[in-house]
Amino acid sequence: MDLFEYQARDLFAKHDVPVLAGEVIDTPEAAREITERLGGKSVVKAQVKVGGRGKAGGVKLAATPDEAVARATDILGMDIKGHTVRKVMIAETAPEIVEEYYVSFLLDRANRTFLAIASVEGGVDIEEVAATRPEAVAKVPVDAVDGVDLAKAKEIVAAAKFPADVADKVADVLVKLWKVFVEEDALLVEVNPLAKVASGDVIALDGKVSLDDNAEFRHPEFEALHDKAAANPLEAAAKEKNLNYVKLDGEVGIIGNGAGLVMSTLDVVAYAGEAHKGVKPANFLDIGGGASAEVMANGLEIILGDPDVKSVFVNVFGGITACDAVANGIVQALDLLESRGEEVTKPIVVRLDGNNAELGRKILDDRKHPLIQRVDTMDGAADKAAELAAAAK
Ligand code: GDP
Ligand code: MN
Repeated sequence: MDLFEYQARDLFAKHDVPVLAGEVIDTPEAAREITERLGGKSVVKAQVKVGGRGKAGGVKLAATPDEAVARATDILGMDIKGHTVRKVMIAETAPEIVEEYYVSFLLDRANRTFLAIASVEGGVDIEEVAATRPEAVAKVPVDAVDGVDLAKAKEIVAAAKFPADVADKVADVLVKLWKVFVEEDALLVEVNPLAKVASGDVIALDGKVSLDDNAEFRHPEFEALHDKAAANPLEAAAKEKNLNYVKLDGEVGIIGNGAGLVMSTLDVVAYAGEAHKGVKPANFLDIGGGASAEVMANGLEIILGDPDVKSVFVNVFGGITACDAVANGIVQALDLLESRGEEVTKPIVVRLDGNNAELGRKILDDRKHPLIQRVDTMDGAADKAAELAAAAK
């Protein structure tokens, strides 16, 4: 889960990383009173989960409370790279900024380690610096057990060639940011810019934190960080039903048992779609090993409720749960949906293979449901589902 800047800032503050005071609002008028409290001026910052807000006009200084209201009016509702600004942070303005640095910790999956990245050329897009001047970006592996103590922090500071006058302060910030990384179970903690101000202090002016969703069980406080306004309504409904569902932007609804099978189904459908008006998968949905009628009905209900879906591909490989049980599940699911008053009108292509496939296919055939088409190979079924979606497009 990616956090908003203000949420990252709260986590930084909790671990004593130096940040500026600020408050989040969703109506412009509220900027006045906060700016007054901050001493009459403020910086108004769009809260969207995308970088480059400054360049896009989403970070503005306000010299008076009135100006803060005006800037908040401009920025709220703005679209930044496809993200609608629903909240702005009214923050204390930084004292005069002298230099802007970059520091981050992240999980380096490719090298099976953690990684510190630091540069004295921060403030700007770090990917660009890394591409054009790789020597200006230091990358230091961090051992998971040893972590970042003061000595390690000094090693990172030296590798990035921080000026001597800020070296100790940056090292101190790095030790604290590592605490954020470990104690909050983050996958990424990034500060850009880490600003050196006229007094010589360093302040985290912008923060990006991505938390590990797999650690949510030991962080009840994560729940409050979810961005409910941005959640896709279908994904929210699926989550309520405990389904592993991700909305995509195509037309072929996908249901499968097992994450690996569903992933490869997405590939096969995307490939088949190239010959059928470029239709694509509309979602990822893994109903898991069990695939009871109820889970199947819940899955079908979510997928059939997606207005983008023109056809459905149910791809099942019978394992511990045999195909006859899944076939019964599909048939019962359609009956269940009808009894719930949901009219099923979209074609459903079913491929059953594996344990008890013959029995499962017979159950589907005997039911003679007008919307179910049985195709016994994965490629063939994907092609049929893509063809049906293209026809309805
Ligand atoms: P980003 O563009 O999304 O990365 O947003 P940032 O929060 O990093 O802001 C962009 C730039 O605005 C920073 O690199 C700073 O130069 C500047 N900035 C941010 N906060 C302040 C502030 O409080 N005072 C001043 N003077 N500049 C700021
Ligand atoms: Mn930034």
